Amino acid sequence: MAKRADLYGVGSGGSFLVTGYNQAHAELSAQLQSWLGVEAVALFNSGYSANQAIIKLLLNKQDILLQDKLNHASLMEAGFLAPCKMQRFKHNDIAHLGHLLSKAEQTNKLIISEGVFSMDGDCAPISALHAQAQSSDAWLMIDDAHGLGVVGKNGQGSVQAAGLVNRDIPIYMATFGKALGVGGAFVAGSKKLIDYLTNYSKPYIYSTGMPPAMAYCISQACTIAEKEQWRRDKLSELIATFRRLACENEIQLGDSHTAIQPIIMGDSKRCVAVANKLKQMGLWVTAIRPPTVPEIALVYV
Ligand SMILES: *Cc1c(COP(=O)(O)O)cnc(C)c1O
Repeated sequence: MAKRADLYGVGSGGSFLVTGYNQAHAELSAQLQSWLGVEAVALFNSGYSANQAIIKLLLNKQDILLQDKLNHASLMEAGFLAPCKMQRFKHNDIAHLGHLLSKAEQTNKLIISEGVFSMDGDCAPISALHAQAQSSDAWLMIDDAHGLGVVGKNGQGSVQAAGLVNRDIPIYMATFGKALGVGGAFVAGSKKLIDYLTNYSKPYIYSTGMPPAMAYCISQACTIAEKEQWRRDKLSELIATFRRLACENEIQLGDSHTAIQPIIMGDSKRCVAVANKLKQMGLWVTAIRPPTVPEIALVYV
């Protein structure tokens, strides 16, 4: 980071459309295109703003948005603020989604799901979502904030892990702040979609571009994620050990085989007490309480 800060200065100096886009951003974009096999990408300072940008730009009053009930708050909030109609389908329930789609009279339909769910750690049935979207002539967007870098061949994410390729999904979005350990986000799609996004989306146009030094750091993180398979192997080993020990100690776990392993405590006070006790033992395990999750409290590992 210090190397690039010397070269470009830390800040980007303005919107991507003014002075904010330089070589570091171009290199990162090209790297994402080749790593993930996507046609074009748009960079954002956060996943929150990427989700706002996409949903608000693409959906008008006469359109419909269908979201998995457990989608991240940044997606839900954008959906509530957008002028379109929004409906939520039961978590990972393709039959319910199909039912809602069959009733939808709107021509433009967008389905959104996370790849790996941020609170429960389970995975979306991406190939079934893709098939449903195709047969209903709907667009599909996957928010892969918790999949990129940790699942799929070479860390290419949830779509790849589901047996498809990222290009099969019209809108693929992921963040650089989770597994990649930096910050920021991108949206990938066809060149046409990305041109439209970068020319008309307000969160993209009216915001200072990602610092180039940060774009450089993200590039380094992407290279590590792509090339160092042993990190994913190690993670799988740790997840298996955690699940085995939990089972041996009769701690009930959810149906997750990813790095997100919730333990449902059922009571906020107890949840915080357990988290504090673990902290005293040197383990940083966050208590997640409503309204971040529904009225059942979780301890987040
Ligand atoms: C963290 C997260 C976001 C928000 O990304 P930020 O870069 O933190 O704004 C969006 N979607 C999901 C699923 C996330 O887990």
